[in-house]
Amino acid sequence: MHSTRRGFVLSAAAAGAAFGLDGKIEIMPSAWAQAAGPHPLNPKGMGFLKFKVGDIQVTTVYDGEIYRPHDAGFVNNASIDDVKAALRAANLPDDRLPNAYTVTFVTLGDRTIMFDAGNGLGGTPGTGKLAENAKAAGIDLAKLSAIVVTHFHPDHIFGLMTKENGQVFANTEIVVPESEYKFWSDPAVIDKLPEGRKGIARRVQATMTSWKNLKQVGADKDAVAGVRAVASPGHSPGHMSYLLASGGSQLMVLGDVTNIPAINLRNPGWHVMFDQDAKVAEASRRQMFDRVVADKIVCSGYHWGMPGAGTVAKEGNGYALVPVA
Ligand SMILES: [Zn+2]
Repeated sequence: MHSTRRGFVLSAAAAGAAFGLDGKIEIMPSAWAQAAGPHPLNPKGMGFLKFKVGDIQVTTVYDGEIYRPHDAGFVNNASIDDVKAALRAANLPDDRLPNAYTVTFVTLGDRTIMFDAGNGLGGTPGTGKLAENAKAAGIDLAKLSAIVVTHFHPDHIFGLMTKENGQVFANTEIVVPESEYKFWSDPAVIDKLPEGRKGIARRVQATMTSWKNLKQVGADKDAVAGVRAVASPGHSPGHMSYLLASGGSQLMVLGDVTNIPAINLRNPGWHVMFDQDAKVAEASRRQMFDRVVADKIVCSGYHWGMPGAGTVAKEGNGYALVPVA
């Protein structure tokens, strides 16, 4: 079955379904993707940022940005007015919902590891900037020692795939969460998923299941040496975060434990539509943030915009991000 699907080319409709969650088609009209001036989640227009956590060289690299129109379903348990107020409280414009994509790289000795892979080329307008920004940061994507994946949503794994479902990183070890792989690679899952999520399973099964360089990692195991997998399920069934340590300092690559800080760090109880099991996601989020606050762990967040990393502080009923720069 996999071989018959290998040549599958995404039609516009299939691509739309692949981007959509909960039955919503997520491809934005280009007008929504165009920022007039700097995007609010990357006000300085940064392509990348380098900083150190102990001896670990960390580089956050910008893959791009989008806007979406407000949608009553975006946060299931908050009104559009509440969402707009949360944006304003963070000094963001409230006319539409901003989002951004930031990929984390770490260099450990002579190894450079990339966490997730961006939207890839040919996706939503405004994204797909990973390769040019990584190059500007001095990172050669052809020489990565490993790619470690948090979960299988399109904005995290489509960068591993060509438009024709070929493999971009055929010679690099790719480490994925065991339970995430099990969920999306099961042929029987397609019939059980809501329409908007079927495309993800189809595309995973048309690509990753035939890759020879894929390795699975379970919770509390090392994805690669020095990178410990920390289960953070809910956003997707097998969502995984990754913890690194150097001296007394630690870095947590969160993935999608939260949406943008204004929405979901400030309001950890808000259930954003992309969280597949919102209650489990909320429990993971609260547990994770109580841990990183207590242990002063530097975090990178995939949807935090730029610089895309910082420490987290308790603030009121939620949390606040203190960016690294
Ligand atoms: Zn995401």
